[in-house]
Amino acid sequence: MIYFILKNHEYLNDVQTGIQIFYPNRHYYNCDEIKKDGITVVSTMAEGKCTAEIFENGIKTAEGTENFDADDKKAEKRSVRNSIYKMLAPKMKFYPEWGTITGVRPAKTAGELISAGLSEEETVKYFMEKHFTSEAKARLALEVSKAEESILAKNTDGDLSLYVGIPFCPTRCLYCSFTSYPLDRYSKLVDGYLDKLTEEIEYIAHLAEGRRFMTVYVGGGTPTSLDEIQLERLLKCIADNIDLSKTLEFTVEAGRPDTITEGKLAVMKKYGVERISINPQTMNQKTLDLIGRRHTVEDVKNIYCAARKIGFRDINMDLILGLPEETVEDVRHTMEEMKALAPDSMTVHTLAVKRASRLKEQFDSYTLAEAKIMEEMIEISSEYARKMGLAPYYMYRQKNMVGNFENVGYCRKGCEGIYNIEIMEERQTILAAGAGATSKVYNKEKNLLTRAFNVKGVEEYIARFDEMLERKSEAMKSEK
Ligand code: SF4
Repeated sequence: MIYFILKNHEYLNDVQTGIQIFYPNRHYYNCDEIKKDGITVVSTMAEGKCTAEIFENGIKTAEGTENFDADDKKAEKRSVRNSIYKMLAPKMKFYPEWGTITGVRPAKTAGELISAGLSEEETVKYFMEKHFTSEAKARLALEVSKAEESILAKNTDGDLSLYVGIPFCPTRCLYCSFTSYPLDRYSKLVDGYLDKLTEEIEYIAHLAEGRRFMTVYVGGGTPTSLDEIQLERLLKCIADNIDLSKTLEFTVEAGRPDTITEGKLAVMKKYGVERISINPQTMNQKTLDLIGRRHTVEDVKNIYCAARKIGFRDINMDLILGLPEETVEDVRHTMEEMKALAPDSMTVHTLAVKRASRLKEQFDSYTLAEAKIMEEMIEISSEYARKMGLAPYYMYRQKNMVGNFENVGYCRKGCEGIYNIEIMEERQTILAAGAGATSKVYNKEKNLLTRAFNVKGVEEYIARFDEMLERKSEAMKSEK
């Protein structure tokens, strides 16, 4: 439990995230007085100066200050986190790699600085001096920003993307915060859901008539939790309604190895899916058991080999670092297994304890990796990625990530997940079908994004279906 007090300012979120960088996965409380027990952080703003103080069991043990120009609002806001950083980094002898950067898209920040006229070296310097980012991470942000730019350059006017969501999974993973319905209880809803989903895809195709769908992405949940007949029905609907001959990328996030069969792989191949994602998250059996996955490490290898045999030449694998009870050696083991399998791309996430997950409810009972250990795990994954001939091409961060780290997508040249970049950079209209899916309509001239949300619940989605279509159609008007 960490308490914090704000004096003369209201940057509550900055104080909390500043503390969170050093004390991840705690409960944080805004309060009025210094507590006799435990840790209290006090953040005080006076003219041109922000001071952070930490009290342990009521006794002050460290302080940090950051000055700012009183007319500079950005610097004023930055000073809140920077003062906490200056207090806690030397105290804990821990200098986090991203410094005080907690934003979701550091590569976007790098790109914006370049567009504003800064040179590459000035951009790196900006990260290092204003946010105490390490040179390695500043250069990572820059490298990813350049990779993303080369993909975004392929966008032509009128292009859009399609997202299709399947919110069903065999079981619910410990860390999951997505819209996901365990099939043992919800299998009866699947066919009715597909009725509406296919109708929504037809409607989207009609809304975007004559335009190119640059990417199509079927995600979830777990799309391969559909049986072969259901999966074929869905993919046939996409192929019948979207001109896939012009599409640059068609992905199905196959996801959990226990749901993928050779029959389903063949169906995907038949309808033009080129890119699939097989997501083991870890190659350690004890962790798979702990996080509620009902498959073995062998299952992952077998289905990966089957996909190669059927002819998939673009396979992504997702991993999570910092899973409960995992050590640095466990991560090294997972990466050795990845190296042996040699996927075309690999997305390495760091664990985020989300509000809606079972892990959030139970995290006091699990040992989660502390920030320094996580740094080591990330270093190992990045070394292995490079050894495997994979370079970073996209990156995003989430709140509540252990140690304030990043998720990085690595790939072989030419195997960049285009949809991943489009969704992250928000420079293209993405029309989304399914429960919990969000359409994002992009107006290039105004650089403005309008969102149309679908309801989350499957039953609600079926019942309020017409409303989803209306919302989408309304949002599309903001494109011009
Ligand atoms: S597979 Fe993904 S969506 Fe399904 S329960 Fe696990 S984390 Fe959630």
